[in-house]
Amino acid sequence: MQLLLASNNPKKRREFEALLGPLGIELLCPVDVGGLDDVDEDQPDFAGNALKKSRAASSEKRLLALADDSGLEVDALGGAPGVRSARFAGEPSNDERNNDLLLERLGDLPAEKRGARFVCALALTEPRGRALIQVEGHARGRILKERRGKRDFGYDPLFEFCETGHAQSGRSFAELTPEQKAEVSHRGRAVQKFLTQLQELLPSLQASAE
Ligand code: IMP
Repeated sequence: MQLLLASNNPKKRREFEALLGPLGIELLCPVDVGGLDDVDEDQPDFAGNALKKSRAASSEKRLLALADDSGLEVDALGGAPGVRSARFAGEPSNDERNNDLLLERLGDLPAEKRGARFVCALALTEPRGRALIQVEGHARGRILKERRGKRDFGYDPLFEFCETGHAQSGRSFAELTPEQKAEVSHRGRAVQKFLTQLQELLPSLQASAE
């Protein structure tokens, strides 16, 4: 069975290939199908953008398509940067400038007022546009006053994970190995929910693919 991942990000491709390969699913990327039309990510929430991207890809290429959307919601900023996380400090997307702007916006707010969460939405649709799976994963933390850690993807150096009951608690996402991060991250959690639902759907999907 084939599934098209509506993302050009090679890190996402590797992550999903490792997860879906063992289920007998062949993952295709835009480059394998002659590219995908651009989609305006203009929906008010992550779930809406993920659904819009997966619908566009599945109807364009007549394949099952998986899309994601993710970002950071900061309590003191009313949920910003939210769906604008990548472009918070303007276009083109720049992690350094986004992190600087976040620090500036939060100023000297005390730790208890610096709450935030990461969100990841995933959507799987079939060629006629029907959504088969829609899931979301979250990770709760707070925004540090200065960067911590060496792995510097997005807002990771400023995000201190602080859910209780986890070994990762009290560390910034940039201080965790990829495996430690995946155990508790919004993306790791969304993927786990997605895989649970996909395994339930798989027999009927495989039957209709034959
Ligand atoms: P996208 O879903 O790949 O488009 O990500 C949107 C933006 O959200 C990224 O450019 C990052 O700024 C931010 N973001 C999403 N997930 C993470 C994460 O795991 N760590 C840090 N930043 C993230």
